Formats: sequence, structure tokens, C-alpha cells
Amino acid sequence: MERIPVARPNMSGNERKYVNDCLDSSWISSAGYYIEKFESEFAKYVGTKYAISTNNGTTALHLALIALGVKPGDEVLIPTVTYIATANAVKYCGATPVLCESNGMDFNICVDDLKRKVNSKTKGIIAVHLYGHPANMLEINKVAKDNGLWVVEDAAEAHGAKVNGVSVGALGDCATFSFFGNKIITTGEGGMVTTNNKDLADKMRIFRGQGMDPHRRYWFPVIGYNYRMTNIQAAIGLAQLETIDASIAKRERIRSWYDENLNQLSNFVEKPSSSEWADPVCWMYTIKLKGVTAEKRDFIMGHMDKLGVETRPVFYPMHMLPPYLENTSYPIAEKTSSAGINLPTFEDMTEEQVIMVCMALSEAIELA
Ligand SMILES: *Cc1c(COP(=O)(O)O)cnc(C)c1O
Repeated sequence: MERIPVARPNMSGNERKYVNDCLDSSWISSAGYYIEKFESEFAKYVGTKYAISTNNGTTALHLALIALGVKPGDEVLIPTVTYIATANAVKYCGATPVLCESNGMDFNICVDDLKRKVNSKTKGIIAVHLYGHPANMLEINKVAKDNGLWVVEDAAEAHGAKVNGVSVGALGDCATFSFFGNKIITTGEGGMVTTNNKDLADKMRIFRGQGMDPHRRYWFPVIGYNYRMTNIQAAIGLAQLETIDASIAKRERIRSWYDENLNQLSNFVEKPSSSEWADPVCWMYTIKLKGVTAEKRDFIMGHMDKLGVETRPVFYPMHMLPPYLENTSYPIAEKTSSAGINLPTFEDMTEEQVIMVCMALSEAIELA
């Protein structure tokens, strides 16, 4: 029996054609038609003036923070439940990530805790849209405005999600995306920053290319980085972007199959919820097991693995990981994380596969 992976990219559009075009034309490095085209089409898709491509989502975050001037001594508010790249990017600037509790509904930040953590060292907020559900940007932007903070959206897991009809990526001062192989669209490795702010966009382009003066070749007024995307990555990205609406629609269908098939497990499984102001995307269908310990959750995932179903645990909160360890307890985050499982979600997934995942989950729960 074929294993069901937790994620798998779909490459059935113009990917090969565009990559071959790069090879045939020998434009394989970090200049070329596809980079500019992918950036302009991505900006159009998100609804921002500028999009700056990078070599991955982590460098996109770092680049955004550099352009915003984040420096040692600064504090940046982030959710404790996130992928570690969010916290690491803050650390790369020598600044301190200040962790915030989860809200207990979706997997995102608790705005009340966010408000409590603001002090004179706070410079900004990274709002993470976890597992495809947007963070509460209306409230977060209000906290930012009231306190003179900037907002970066970490939209690595939410391409195409919307808040009151506005796309993520266009809701803060700037936003970052990832195109890793398991994301909604992929370039293998890759990232993007979107913004409407010309000053930030100009700075990011300079810092992305070793800090070179755009008007004077090989003159470097600042220390920059090599965070450039290649034309080949951009070629794949452009092809992926051409079919993103269909990809998101297919993921919605998978969400509805899960919703339907998990009804019979409603005593044991909490399905993902969404707020009325949000149009989430189904990046990974994420459930919370009711009343289980982390050990039991891990047993259930282990048994599903034996039955040929790959899953993932919800991210460990940052305050439990060695680099960001704290004595403080964040009870909602800990509960959300220890009870959470990401179920297989990929574009080509069939209804039969969704049913097989639900059967494996049911069997594992019975045994646990
Ligand atoms: C994937 C991801 C990133 C980083 O992306 P990479 O392309 O893997 O560097 C950042 N933040 C979140 C929330 C992510 O899921």
C-alpha cells in the first residue's frame, strides 16, 4: 500500500517549460526574465506595489527586519507557537524575540497578551498566519498604531488567505512568504517580501545583493547579504503562481472531505475553526485531540505512521526549545501544541486518501 505523505508539491503546469527555457538560454543564476516576472506577478497577486524575491523564507524575514532597522536592544513581539525561523530572524539582528501566548481558537497569537508585552524597547510585531489561518490583523494593526510599532506578516503558510477581502501580504508594513517544497506554492527553496513602502523595498533590494549601490557597480556603502533567488527558482515559482487559485480550491475540497469524515470522531477530535473576518487557506488540515497528553498524541501519530499515514506535530512553542527556553508557562500554547496534529494535505490528494487518513486516525485513537 502506498504511503500517504503529509505534503507533496504539484508540478503539472508550465514548470518544465520555463525551467528548460532557463537552461536553453543559460540564464540560470540570479538575473533573468523569470525573476522580474515572478516578482511583478506575485506583487499583483498579493495586491502590493513591490515584491522582492529571496532564496528562502527565513532570509525574507531577515531582510524585512534589516530594512526596518532592527538592532541589538530592540524587542520584537512574536507568537510562541510558530516555526523557529520567525524567532531566529529576530536573533540574527541581535534583537530579542518576546514571546506571546496563543489564542486557543486558531493557532495564532493572543492579542491581549500581545498588548501586555509592549514596552519602551518594543519596535514591532511579527504576525504569523499559522497553518493557513490569518492572524487577527485588524486588532494587531490597532495595537501597532497605538504604540508606534511596525508590523511584519509572516505569511509563509498562508498564500492566498484573506482578512475582510484583503490578501495576506498586504496587511502590514511588509510581509514575507516561503516557497519551500511543502508550502502552498513552491520554488524548491525560495522566499518573497511584499510591501507598499518604496523606501523599504529599495533597502531590501540593496541588502539582498551584498549591499551594492544600485547606481554604482561594485561600490558597497553597507554590509549586505547574498539572499538572491535564481532564475530557475523563479521560473518554477511563476508556473506555480499561474495555477494558485486552482491549487487553493483543491485544498478547500480536501478541507471539506476532512470536515465530513471527522464528524464521526467529534468526541475525540476538534476540527480547525475559522473567524468570520477570515478567509483561510487549507495549507495543512490541523486538528486538536481532545483531552490527551503529548505522549498519547505521539503514540497516535506513531500508530498512523505504521498504517502508512505520515503526519506532523504542531510546532513546539519557542519557550520550550533550548535556544528560547523560558521558565514562564504559556498554558494555551502548550496545550495547543501538545494536542495538535497536521494531517496530510496536498493538492492531488483524493477523497479515498482522506478517508484512509481518518480511518487510521480512528484506529490509533481506539488503541491509545
Ligand atoms: C516555512 C516557514 C518559514 C521559513 O521558510 P523557509 O523557506 O523554510 O526558510 C518561516 N515562517 C513560517 C511560519 C514557516 O512555516
